[in-house]
Amino acid sequence: MARSYVKEARKRVGPKRQRIRPVIERLSEEHADAAIALTFRSPLELLVSVMLSAQTTDVNVNRVTATLFEKYRTPEDYLAVPQEELERDIFATGFYRQKAKSLRGTMRLLLDEFDGEVPRALEELVRLPGVARKTANVVAAELGAAQGIVVDTHVRRLSQRLGFSREDDPVKIERDLVRLVPREDWAPFSHLLIWHGRRVCDARRPRCEDCVLTDLCPSSRV
Ligand code: SF4
Repeated sequence: MARSYVKEARKRVGPKRQRIRPVIERLSEEHADAAIALTFRSPLELLVSVMLSAQTTDVNVNRVTATLFEKYRTPEDYLAVPQEELERDIFATGFYRQKAKSLRGTMRLLLDEFDGEVPRALEELVRLPGVARKTANVVAAELGAAQGIVVDTHVRRLSQRLGFSREDDPVKIERDLVRLVPREDWAPFSHLLIWHGRRVCDARRPRCEDCVLTDLCPSSRV
C-alpha cells in the first residue's frame, strides 16, 4: 500500500532529471539570500570557521570568531600560543580540546606543505587534521572550487523527500546528487536546500502548503 503510494507520487511529479532544473530555479528565486552563514574575510578565516562549526551553530561560531580573528591572523599565530590558550579562546564553540588540537595540526601542515595558504583541492584539504570531507567540500565551494556537494542534515532530508536519492549515507547521497545537479550549481545547491530546509521543509513539520515545490515533490502533503 505504502509502496504503491510512493510509486504514484513519483509518477505524478515525473523523473528527477526533468525536475532538477525547475527545483533549482524556484529555490533560487525563493531564497535569493541563501549563502553561507559564517563570517570570514579570508580563506584562512573560512577554514577556521568551518572547522569550529562542528557540533555548534553558525551564530555561535561568528560570536567567537569576532574576537578570535583579531588575535589570530596567520597560521603562525595559532602556533605561537600554548594549546591551552587557544582552547580558552575557542571554548564557547564546544569540543574545544579536539578543535584546538585540529587547528594547530592544520596550521602546522599549512606552513609545512602549502606555504601557509589554504589549498583548493579536495584531496589536499582532507589531509588537514580535523578536516573531513564535508568541511573540505564547504571550504572548496566557498573558494569557488566546488568539487562535490555538501550533504548536511538538511541536504540529506530534502534530497530524500524530493526523490533525488534513496540513500541514507551522506557519501552515497552526494554521489547521487553530483550525477544529477549541473556542475555550476554544486555550490549554491547545498545552500538552497539548507535554507529551504530551515525555512519551509522542516524535519518534523514540513510546511508543504507554503512550499514552491509542491508539484515537483513526491513527498508533498498538499
Ligand atoms: S512539498 Fe513539502 S516535503 Fe516537499 S519540499 Fe516542499 S515542504 Fe518539503
